[in-house]
Amino acid sequence: MAGHLHSYETLGTLDGPGLRLVVFLQGCPLRCLYCHNPDTWDMAAGRSVTVEEIVTKARRMRPYFGSTGGVTLSGGEPLAQTHFTLALLQALKNESIHTVIDTSGTAVFSASERAHGDDKRVLTAILAATDLVLLDIKAPLAAGFQALTSCSMAGLEQFLELANARRQTVWIRQVIVPGLNDTAEDVAEFGQFLQRYPQLQIEKIELLPYHTLGVSKYGQLGIPYPLPGVGALPADKLAELQHVVDQWTCTGNR
Ligand code: SF4
Repeated sequence: MAGHLHSYETLGTLDGPGLRLVVFLQGCPLRCLYCHNPDTWDMAAGRSVTVEEIVTKARRMRPYFGSTGGVTLSGGEPLAQTHFTLALLQALKNESIHTVIDTSGTAVFSASERAHGDDKRVLTAILAATDLVLLDIKAPLAAGFQALTSCSMAGLEQFLELANARRQTVWIRQVIVPGLNDTAEDVAEFGQFLQRYPQLQIEKIELLPYHTLGVSKYGQLGIPYPLPGVGALPADKLAELQHVVDQWTCTGNR
């Protein structure tokens, strides 16, 4: 089976435990205002790749994975190519390789797949072949999610319901943008949202600082940058909010 690849990162340390082969798949249904990888949006801009090519690369890297590393599927959005992602995850599990998906939880299905209930079947199979989900919660309220991503929150909610029912192991992430979601109230709403999914096995919650490193890519693609004039999030602000979140994870109050 063939999919669309953006690029690889070998020996990645940020996208899951241990040393990892990170596979950046092409395509994303969201248009996050702060996206620093707009070059991953257009599915047609990626190159064709087979499951076997990626599995062969992962097999070669196996000595570096040790007992904790493995393969992370990132993007773009790996759930923009659900069938390819499922086939790849299952092939990696057949090799006993640890699997992570780095996702916003918004999958892409055809209308007929949704009508036949195939969307839930495919997502459940993806979760069953995934050892750890890195779940980027863009925003906790529907209106804010739509404004930030130009996309409905329904896909994320469906993903979370299935993951919750499976007691999936997750690392939760959220990008904090100055003036957008950087207040104590914003973080409290985030915590209330997570309480809707009490069976998720949340190993950690990471707040990530907004940065401006991707701005030049917009110029190269001829796309106006959506957050002109917004500066990077100060480190002390991030630390203050992360401290609040760490209290939830310590007390189980999330
Ligand atoms: S989900 Fe990721 S790749 Fe897609 S628009 Fe948002 S930040 Fe960019």
